[in-house]
Amino acid sequence: MAINSHKAPQREAARGGLNHDEFWERRQIVAADLANRKLDAFLVSFSANLRYLSGFTGSNGSLLVLPGRAIFFTDPRYQIQAGQEVSCQVKIAKGPLVEDIAAAIARLRLRRIGYEPARMTCDWLDSLRSKIPARASLEPVNGWIEQLRMIKSPQELERIRRSVETNSRAFEQAVKRMRAGATEKDLAAELEYRMRRLGAEKPAFETIVASGERSALPHAQPTVASLKPGGLVVVDMGAFQDGYASDMTRMLFLGSPGPKVRRTYRAVLEAQAAAIQAVRPGVSTAHVDRQARKVLDSFGLEKAFVHSTGHGLGLEIHEPPRIGKKDKGRLETGMAITIEPGVYLEGFGGIRIEDTVVVTANGCEILTPTSKDLRLV
Ligand code: ZN
Ligand code: ZN
Repeated sequence: MAINSHKAPQREAARGGLNHDEFWERRQIVAADLANRKLDAFLVSFSANLRYLSGFTGSNGSLLVLPGRAIFFTDPRYQIQAGQEVSCQVKIAKGPLVEDIAAAIARLRLRRIGYEPARMTCDWLDSLRSKIPARASLEPVNGWIEQLRMIKSPQELERIRRSVETNSRAFEQAVKRMRAGATEKDLAAELEYRMRRLGAEKPAFETIVASGERSALPHAQPTVASLKPGGLVVVDMGAFQDGYASDMTRMLFLGSPGPKVRRTYRAVLEAQAAAIQAVRPGVSTAHVDRQARKVLDSFGLEKAFVHSTGHGLGLEIHEPPRIGKKDKGRLETGMAITIEPGVYLEGFGGIRIEDTVVVTANGCEILTPTSKDLRLV
């Protein structure tokens, strides 16, 4: 447990997580910026942003952030849970939440209400628009909470660290149990089972296990193909633990690898090391991406690297910043990102190596403890 239990009130320690002060502080930051954005309120309905600002872990809720207060809306299924998780005013809607949200907008005489256009359906927006008073307008605001979420608090980093540890332990346990004749699906199921046994809520994404030539598909789904001697196996896995994601890719090889596998593996490993070496506050994400590409270029493999070098992670498995060729952002202390160059060669296979790292004042810390040697099984 990372929470200092003698300092945290019993009730909150029992919930095993961030205390209400942190959610309250985050809402204060949003509320303090409303006037700058010429908004009277901001309406949050996207689950990761909702959790970030309220602590709510259920599937149906909305939060209206106003100066000095916030109202959380949910349905009767979550009455007890919202009471336990959410520290601001909770309104339990009898029907669709949109009715109660519109009623609050009318009652509080709100004029300009920001919403998250990338995170809601057209239907929902139309419905809300049809119910609010004519004087009120809904204003699209993109990526506001996602921007705040990029820099992780020490408590959030602790959760990511635990998620990473669970993920790596699950990998070790599952690989150790792997037997000849096991299929990609067997290994994926074992990885996910182990992850849950070790404390994860669920996988952070569909676990990728792809063997032989199929390893050249960056987002392959596990099949009933058995893992065959003489073949590469890519394992890309992540856990959600206490709401926070981890992400790791490691390569297995069944048998003894030939020179092409060894050389390609070395190229990706060196590319990954070069990118990690470049990670520090102030550096552009495009620069980090370029370091990986330069190494692969020196091996004649740059064209086989078909995705970006990495991505942020936290309450979502993919969140800003993106670490890609065309990205404009700069790294800042407290960002949690992945570094995952890969090469994909049709008819041969694919090799990717991925760690979760945190940007620190002097560079970065690699959280993933798993060895990066090509794992021979
Ligand atoms: Zn991954
Ligand atoms: Zn990733």
